[in-house]
Amino acid sequence: MDIIPLDKMKSLAKEASRDKNYFKPAEKPENIRREDYSTFCSKCRNCVDVCPSRANVFLERNNKKYTLHQDALCNECGNCSHFCILGHISYKEKFTVFRTEEDLFNSTNDGFYQEGDNSTIRWKNLIYIGREEDLIGIPEEIRDLINCVKIRR
Ligand code: SF4
Ligand code: SF4
Repeated sequence: MDIIPLDKMKSLAKEASRDKNYFKPAEKPENIRREDYSTFCSKCRNCVDVCPSRANVFLERNNKKYTLHQDALCNECGNCSHFCILGHISYKEKFTVFRTEEDLFNSTNDGFYQEGDNSTIRWKNLIYIGREEDLIGIPEEIRDLINCVKIRR
C-alpha cells in the first residue's frame, strides 16, 4: 500500500478546492435561465458524466462545443442538476432532442423533433415548423446544434 505524505495530501486538497467543478454559485440569477444557450453553459460535462441513463451528450462541431439532452432517455432523477456547476436544472433547461412531435408538445423544454428535412422546434416558448431555410428567428448556434445531431444520425 502506498502512503501519501501529509504535505502532498494538503497540496492535493488545495488544488481540488480550486477545481471549477467544486465551485457552485449559491443562487443562479433568474434571467440566465433559457437565455443565451452557450454563454451560460461552461461545457464542463458534469451533466453528461453523472447521468445514469446517458441522456445528456457532449458534441463538437466546427470548433464549437454543445451539450444536448435526450428526452426519451431521461428518468428525471435530477442528478445532472445537482452536479451542474452553474446551477442549471440541466434536464429541463438544456436544449433537447425529442423522439416524437407529441413528446415535444408534452414537454416545456426548448428543443426539437426532426422528420426528414422538416424540424419542429421550441425556442423560448415559440414553436417553429419547417425546413432549415424557413426557420428564421432560430439562433445560428441552435441551427448548428440541430445539424450536428442530423449528421450523427
Ligand atoms: S434527470 Fe435525466 S438527464 Fe439528468 S441525470 Fe437524471 S436521467 Fe440523466
Ligand atoms: S449544463 Fe451545467 S453541468 Fe452541464 S455542461 Fe453546462 S455547466 Fe456543465
